[in-house]
Amino acid sequence: MAKGTVAYKIIEKHLVSGRLIPGEEIAIKIDQTLTQDATGTMAYLQFEAMGVDRVKTELSVSYIDHNMLQTDYKNPDDHKYLMSVAKRYGVYLSKPGNGICHQVHVERFAKPGKTLLGSDSHTPTSGGVGMLAIGAGGLDVAAAMAGEPFYLKMPRIVGVKLTGTLPPWVTAKDIILELLRRLTVKGGVGKIFEYFGEGIKELSVPERATITNMGAELGATTSIFPSDEITRAYLKAQGREEDWIELLPDENAEYDEVIEINLSELEPLIACPHSPDNVVPVREVEGVKVDQVVIGSCTNSSFVDLTRAGKMLEGRRIHPDVIFAVAPGSKQALELIAQEGILLNFLKAGARVLESACGPCIGMGYAPPSGGVSVRSFNRNFEGRSGTKDAKVYLASPEVCVASAIAGEIIDPRRLAEREGIKWIKVQMPERFPYGDEAIIPPLPEEEAKKVEIYRGPNIAPLPEFDELPTEIQGEVSLIVGDNITTDHIMPAGANILPLRSNIYAISEYVYHYVDPEFVSRAKKIRDEKGIANIIIGGENYGQGSSREHAALAPRFLGVRVVIAKSFARIHHANLINFGILPLEFVDKRDYAKFSLGDEVHIPELIDRLKGGKEILVINKTTKEEIACKYSLTPKQVSVLLSGGLLRWIKNKQKV
Ligand code: SF4
Repeated sequence: MAKGTVAYKIIEKHLVSGRLIPGEEIAIKIDQTLTQDATGTMAYLQFEAMGVDRVKTELSVSYIDHNMLQTDYKNPDDHKYLMSVAKRYGVYLSKPGNGICHQVHVERFAKPGKTLLGSDSHTPTSGGVGMLAIGAGGLDVAAAMAGEPFYLKMPRIVGVKLTGTLPPWVTAKDIILELLRRLTVKGGVGKIFEYFGEGIKELSVPERATITNMGAELGATTSIFPSDEITRAYLKAQGREEDWIELLPDENAEYDEVIEINLSELEPLIACPHSPDNVVPVREVEGVKVDQVVIGSCTNSSFVDLTRAGKMLEGRRIHPDVIFAVAPGSKQALELIAQEGILLNFLKAGARVLESACGPCIGMGYAPPSGGVSVRSFNRNFEGRSGTKDAKVYLASPEVCVASAIAGEIIDPRRLAEREGIKWIKVQMPERFPYGDEAIIPPLPEEEAKKVEIYRGPNIAPLPEFDELPTEIQGEVSLIVGDNITTDHIMPAGANILPLRSNIYAISEYVYHYVDPEFVSRAKKIRDEKGIANIIIGGENYGQGSSREHAALAPRFLGVRVVIAKSFARIHHANLINFGILPLEFVDKRDYAKFSLGDEVHIPELIDRLKGGKEILVINKTTKEEIACKYSLTPKQVSVLLSGGLLRWIKNKQKV
């Protein structure tokens, strides 16, 4: 047991039920929540359906940062709905242009020792200030706003010991890329990564937040740093020293496992297409011609990142063949680089300055050219996520990005620095950040809030109703996919699809759109004409990537009742359950090959077996084979599945 660690202490303090033994179900109290617009509209529709009069958390924030394009009424409708619903229910609202949720949360709201549940997989970013910050589906976040605890399996707490000192041109991004190189995108499942050791003393809060942010790519439950004097100085500069508490691991803290990284031995790294764990030293891919470079996203767009990048560009020009853009992570970061003159360096170098939002990271504009190479300071490079299916996206530190933008090809920044005489700088934290919060709307007092009318434009569709889990399932295999299917594969993003996030009827038309464009019509036929369930067969790590619950909700709407996979990614597994889809795993992974498209399937005695904790037999009626399946469900998850999903489960509970 990882007693005495920072994560353990926070969990212990927030424990509502369960024992702190890895793998056992625990429930923890949630202090803060965050939502962003792409997941938030659905989360607030679900919150409304719970019939609660005002959020019950200490603090909840609704960010508008994802769907920023206003090419028709859809996104503005969503934004106006979110603004009115925040007013009505006691939620802070961060307006479009104020910045990316995680960046702004670290700056303005994250508190050491507290818990945060966010409807975005990069919520762990706030672990950079010693907060236990977890990403979940929107329905889980809605439940937390309604006062429900958050249920999870007690993770193993892995200590990441940082020793040595980072050499010049090697950054926080390289620390997390090194961990991804070693552990892969599945290496963090069921784990919390807690950083300690001498090496953390030279990392500022924004640098720590880069590391906790991209811990999400490891599949980790969350990542966390202690809250020390560096955290205190940062919060003081944000005008929030009173939010600081010291939170360090005990001298004799025990971790379930320890990984050591000697910072002195690291070098600039890069994740090659199409996975964040496809990591190699930059020098190994030098010379690859670059079409586009972007600095931004919730991973690397802080004041520190922008300052270093901007200083490298001072007196220099972007290569003529490269289009370079910078999207500051927040209005505060933008304001600061404007004050310090750094913004001018970008402009003079020929950069395009984008607004403070997710933008290119979620395929909202700024897609690379066909077959083009884009080097980005982001966290994900799954195929097609950029908006261009055959683009090759590389992920690296802002320093590698700028070096490559100047050279016109991927280059180790150390080599470019030597060639061009560029000096490495240590960025000093400002004594006072510009924290005016001009674009943050605080909650209204309760009585006033009750009078607010919620705006529902035509883009806001009512929630569909789902039924309970049947006692047995008759179904048909409507899709078979391979390993590492991402939520982007299941429910793509992009400028045409994202605006439909608050309309489940419309967005369901895009499920598995790029993987199998026939899937939707096949699924509807099985649902409507045959009147049976859709069954999906998946490989390893099914549903990795973002927390978007639409990747579970939309398939459920199309009639998917069961996904049988070799293994599941954590958040998606929870989302499937939340929407009443049964996630089953093959007892023998080779049985994956025993299914073909169109096979008829019968799952008998489903409820009895689930209640009794017994293996589930899936009968392939077409081949006449019986396939043994297991499941990893807590008692609460079984109860949610039997109810037909979390919303029904909460409503049933309210009736009692
Ligand atoms: Fe936005 Fe990209 Fe971060 Fe998601 S990963 S919150 S889309 S910047």
